[in-house]
Amino acid sequence: MTKKFLVTSALPYANGPLHFGHLAGVYLPADIFCRHKKHLHQKVMHISGSDEHGVAIMLSAEKAGIGYQQYVDKWNASHRELFAKYGIEFDFFGRTSSDYHKKEVLRWFNDLNSKGYIGKKLEKQLYCSSCSKFLPDRYVEGTCYACGYKDARGDECPNCGEWIESLRLTDPRCKICSNTRIETRESEHWYLLLSKLESLFKSWFASKKHWKPHVWAYTNALLENGMVDRAITRDLTWGIDVPIEEAKGKKLYVWFDAPIGYVSNTIEHFRASGAKDDAFKDWWKNPDTEIIHFIGKDNIIFHALIWPCMMLSTGFTNPPDDVPASHFVNLEGRQFSKSAGWYVDSEQAIDVFGQDALRAYLCSIIPETGDSSFSWDHFISFNNELGNKIGNFVNRSSSFLAKHWPDGLPAEAFAKAASAENFGVFKKSIAELTSALDAFQFQRATSLLIRFGEIANETFHAREPWKTIKNDKPHAEETIALSVFSIATIAALFRPFMPKFSKQLSTYFTGYLDGAGLDALYQGRVEVMVDAFRGGFRLPVTPSPLLPRIEEAGVAGFRLGKT
Ligand SMILES: [Zn+2]
Ligand SMILES: [Zn+2]
Repeated sequence: MTKKFLVTSALPYANGPLHFGHLAGVYLPADIFCRHKKHLHQKVMHISGSDEHGVAIMLSAEKAGIGYQQYVDKWNASHRELFAKYGIEFDFFGRTSSDYHKKEVLRWFNDLNSKGYIGKKLEKQLYCSSCSKFLPDRYVEGTCYACGYKDARGDECPNCGEWIESLRLTDPRCKICSNTRIETRESEHWYLLLSKLESLFKSWFASKKHWKPHVWAYTNALLENGMVDRAITRDLTWGIDVPIEEAKGKKLYVWFDAPIGYVSNTIEHFRASGAKDDAFKDWWKNPDTEIIHFIGKDNIIFHALIWPCMMLSTGFTNPPDDVPASHFVNLEGRQFSKSAGWYVDSEQAIDVFGQDALRAYLCSIIPETGDSSFSWDHFISFNNELGNKIGNFVNRSSSFLAKHWPDGLPAEAFAKAASAENFGVFKKSIAELTSALDAFQFQRATSLLIRFGEIANETFHAREPWKTIKNDKPHAEETIALSVFSIATIAALFRPFMPKFSKQLSTYFTGYLDGAGLDALYQGRVEVMVDAFRGGFRLPVTPSPLLPRIEEAGVAGFRLGKT
């Protein structure tokens, strides 16, 4: 059986805009990976959707004075729109507030419960008597027991950074009604008994040494003190009801329901597209399917430990083969913070600079081996260098071709340029790019791609066709034929990274190389070009400048004030 790839991207939380860190950390690499596999003619499916439950959403909706559903509707639509602008494609992008998701979550809960992996515990919790409700951490404020700061949040102190246990806050008060007479009451909660799943998990995890070192090490460290049971229910009014009579009024914790979204969204995708009955099994329970979760490193515990435990114990799906978590992207060296104004509107940016410039630069800062940083200076220099090296090369060589061979470059030129030596260089570059992407090395793949363009550019200049055309025309013809090979290869190889630019470039080969031809090229079968240009080549378009320069004036409005 040939391998298939089931790719998921972390469900974006429907509680605010997505910034460059989300895009470069999760969605862009997942999109590149899927496009890469498609061009290799390997089966791939990309699933994601909005994560629409949880306390943070409730607080934001309440602050905005709108209903929870209305609030998540807004962010679901906004995220979809942003992904479309960035050319990030999904086979299905669903929602966790949907009925189909709820149904699937209950199936998981009931199965885990019937197998004894869910248990009840009594928990002390803060209770507001004037609101008559239990207060989740984020609904409480009080004085920090570590530093004495008056307005510490129930989960974290913004002053000293201490992770707060809300029960220990001095002078706790209710965030909803400002009541300061807060009681401590006991409430029953249901737990996922991870302690019971430890040996099952460990024997599976032992086979995951191929994971990225930081993901493996982080997960391994979590195992050192034994696996801890985790509460999966909360006293909230927004979320999925716990399907147990005595848990009436409680909802499932968002971290429990969210990852099930990968599965529920796939089921809904198959239902909506009329797939065959065995489609689910074929993708989620097939040893020949590689399940890959693209996430940020803040999500490792859920995707590398808890979620696999749920998968292993229910047996509803196979566990993931890989969890290539990325590091963080900073903005000019500092963490993105919308509230602190350290922020760029990623939608406004793409409206100004377009998909090619942003995808190109974001590809170069995908944080695969460590944290990276978005910088406007680097954005300008990176794009202008790309324009100088690749845009100018394509424009110069194709304009030269159009000017001197308006009736077409003769077939003999291509026969000569298709030497074993030249094609060897092409094949090697393509093979390196393919293995980098297969290994989730997106930043490295981007550099390899640019290097390929650089070599083509250097070769063009070193062979000086503008001189040889005067005294050795066949030499000049061979140079341009080689440039044509390079441009076609650039058009093929850039597709996962900059699909718009590639599409534009592929119009240079209309009638010579179609999508299948470019795929063959992408797969390293460079001989397709011999066939394509067997009768010579007449440029079917008038070359126009590609990859326009980014000017400081365009960026000025986005630069952040010095703070
Ligand atoms: Zn209250
Ligand atoms: Zn503090």
